[in-house]
Amino acid sequence: MKTVRYAWCFSHGTMHRFPVGDAPWCTAKWVAFTASTEADALEAKQAAYGDAQFVDQLTLNQQLEVLQIGGARRREESS
Ligand SMILES: [Zn+2]
Repeated sequence: MKTVRYAWCFSHGTMHRFPVGDAPWCTAKWVAFTASTEADALEAKQAAYGDAQFVDQLTLNQQLEVLQIGGARRREESS
């Protein structure tokens, strides 16, 4: 069984599960969490972003943060 990486996607408004080692199938605005279960990932997402489900429900600072995380990820993947 592959290890799964949990990531909250603010574009789709849902939790994504990416098999570790595979290229993520979603290229939208998601933030990955270090968690071994989906419940833990949800808890981490709740702690960091509260009830926000989509990008427009985040504060401006959080939107920037999500954009920066996505940008850093793309740089990492293209190098
Ligand atoms: Zn997505």
